[in-house]
Amino acid sequence: MHLARTLFRTDRRERTTRRSRRRVVAVVAMALVLALVGAACKQLDPANRAVSVPGVTNGKLPLSYLASSSTGCVVYDEAITSYNAMVAAAARDGVKLRGIGCYRDYATQVTVRNDWCSRGQCDMAAVPGTSNHGWGKAVDFADQSGELTFDAAGYAWLKAWAGFYGWIHPAVMEPDGSIPEPWHWEWIGDGGKMFNGQYFGIGNAPLAEPRGMPFGSVDSVIPVANGVSVSGWAIDPDQVASIPVHVYVDSTGVAITADKSRPDVNAAFPLFAAAQHGFSTTVTATPGPHRVCIYAINVTGTGSNRQLACVDVVVPPTTPASVAVAPTTPATVPPTTAPPTTSTSTSTTAAPSPTIAPAAAPAQG
Ligand SMILES: [Zn+2]
Repeated sequence: MHLARTLFRTDRRERTTRRSRRRVVAVVAMALVLALVGAACKQLDPANRAVSVPGVTNGKLPLSYLASSSTGCVVYDEAITSYNAMVAAAARDGVKLRGIGCYRDYATQVTVRNDWCSRGQCDMAAVPGTSNHGWGKAVDFADQSGELTFDAAGYAWLKAWAGFYGWIHPAVMEPDGSIPEPWHWEWIGDGGKMFNGQYFGIGNAPLAEPRGMPFGSVDSVIPVANGVSVSGWAIDPDQVASIPVHVYVDSTGVAITADKSRPDVNAAFPLFAAAQHGFSTTVTATPGPHRVCIYAINVTGTGSNRQLACVDVVVPPTTPASVAVAPTTPATVPPTTAPPTTSTSTSTTAAPSPTIAPAAAPAQG
């Protein structure tokens, strides 16, 4: 554009034409923006309701089907990305949305139903085993003023934008509906009907891999004298408890448990925060090059072992200097001071159990 302007001399008429063209472009752009804002208000079919999750029971979803927001709102795992994106977008607009009623297991559904029935309003809670909270696809929201009301800022924001994220306020829960509940919103990002074609909202991508695979991360693999130090964390999404991690130096495996404190991991995965998931150990290795592979072991439920990392290292040659140190202090230092260093390293190598061998085989990328 700049180049064109310097190359060609323009007379007043051409400039006027360009200006009016620009005005047309501006008007068209404005119309598009208005159309999008309009679409935001009515992109979802109000008849949508959350659908059941195939193969599992309402209120009894396995852990691996659930995910938690950083504030502890537990939802169906496929809904968590859009939930987080929606709450973050609201926060940018000054609306502090938070889920105050999220996934409800069967027992909690019974409690909630009994609570409403005791007030003579049974209809305000679903029959236990039928609630969309029991699929992890319904969230009761509050904003900075508390539980949403029909004139709350949070309700107005959600009415305008929730559809973009695949969330809807069911028609029956509108002010003129049979169960007016301004706080209750449902996720329909896995099959809801939109007015605008096949648009399922932001953050509603299907799961990238089968459920139940252990996951984690290797933070360091460092060759040291007579071994390799490794650290990281691992979680099996089918259980809260700490899981085994297998560290292979070439073809020799060592089993350890990822049960060391990692507050950062527990903060990131609140569903699993009742146990520890870090690991940090040194496994023995002879001087020279080695391949170190680390696997998170699938303990229960679906999924298989996951290879967290495979790293080539060179263990340094043993220094004769350390051997030479001992003779210099024979009299004063009792013999017990020397062994601990060696016994610590052997105690980690004592961990290998006969059950380790199968680990390498089932590990799939
Ligand atoms: Zn609800």
